[in-house]
Amino acid sequence: MIYLDSNATTRPSPAVRAALLPYVGDSHANAKSLHGPGEAARAAVEAAREKVAALLCARARDVVFTSTATEALNTIVRGLLLREPPDARRHVVASAVEHPAVAEPLQDLETRGYEVTRVGVDGAGRLDPEEFRAALRGDTALSIAMAANNETGVRLPWRECAAAAREKGVPYLCDAVQAAGKVPFEFEDSGADYAVISSHKIHGPMGAAALVVRRSAPFRPLLVGGGQERGRRAGTENVAAIVGFGVACEEATRHLVESMPRVEKLKDRLESLLVERIDGLKVNGLGAPRLPNTLSVVIGGVEGEAALLLLDKEGIAVSTGSACASGSMDPSHVLTAMGIPVPLSLGALRFSLSRTTTEADVLAAAEALPRVVKKLRELSPFDPLDGPPQDRFGTKTAPDAARAARRSSE
Ligand code: PLP
Repeated sequence: MIYLDSNATTRPSPAVRAALLPYVGDSHANAKSLHGPGEAARAAVEAAREKVAALLCARARDVVFTSTATEALNTIVRGLLLREPPDARRHVVASAVEHPAVAEPLQDLETRGYEVTRVGVDGAGRLDPEEFRAALRGDTALSIAMAANNETGVRLPWRECAAAAREKGVPYLCDAVQAAGKVPFEFEDSGADYAVISSHKIHGPMGAAALVVRRSAPFRPLLVGGGQERGRRAGTENVAAIVGFGVACEEATRHLVESMPRVEKLKDRLESLLVERIDGLKVNGLGAPRLPNTLSVVIGGVEGEAALLLLDKEGIAVSTGSACASGSMDPSHVLTAMGIPVPLSLGALRFSLSRTTTEADVLAAAEALPRVVKKLRELSPFDPLDGPPQDRFGTKTAPDAARAARRSSE
């Protein structure tokens, strides 16, 4: 399998697997226990905390381990509802392109008396920090802008946003899940109040993530009950996952310099080959600063999901980037925010590379996709470059596309 879906998850590295194995075997113990094995587990968790902090240029004491980035992000966003004493400020500023782990809790806040200002992006996915600054108000309780977008790889000016929030005395949350390990991220100097990263996106195991909380920032735990993580996140620590996460962070710190320039060259190669070989293919975020590993495209007259399924049959794993809910394909809120018309955004495909991606992987994808696009365009009753008319498309479901793709490949 040629795996080009690293923004979804990455395979734990051999060093990560070797480091965590003892903690699901002989070294298995609760990090809260007072006996020797417990103390060893505790020491392993603290060593991992140091490594996570080093990747983020943060203080180890400020790192809180959680199970996922979704949990960490919910802790801050939904945590607004738990502030004690209750915060009279009921306004939140956020970029319009946040991950659902932020976007959905924000929608929930809106049903509970909060007002949310979503700061839009331009056609290339760029956010203007001045617009972000202008949206901050006296009653803003939290501001949010991710470091890099998971669908397009476009980097947001998070340092400028953090500085603007700090000036106005508004706590600032940065989702650094996709940026971590791909581009430098310095928490301590940035002025950000909260940052979040996830183990499984950087060749660590699933089941661990980190929330960094600046000591001066308001904070209420989402989970209470066991006193773990200095009372900031109750629940027995997943020692094995945390140990693996620590090693993943250590490796990611090194690979920022050792591997990311090579990954970027591969991504650029794939981009230029696809642009050259496929009519009607557009690169999302062209001209904006982007992550070195992420290539997002839209292809006129082709459904992303159908192309994904045909690529899968050829042993190439990619993603569409748009959420598929209950059988009907929803356009991506990120591409919509960039002003990409719905029929075109349904033709989105995301290739996300990692340090394990090879040149052969990229060349195989650049061979396969033009073939797949040709096949799908031949099947389509619509003009290949215009795609279906919007009203007709609105009623077309993802399973229809999937069935068409399967039929065509049988
Ligand atoms: N934030 C971003 C930008 C992501 O890409 C993801 C995962 O896709 C998350 C948050 C959620 O991470 P987790 O899988 O650890 O909950």
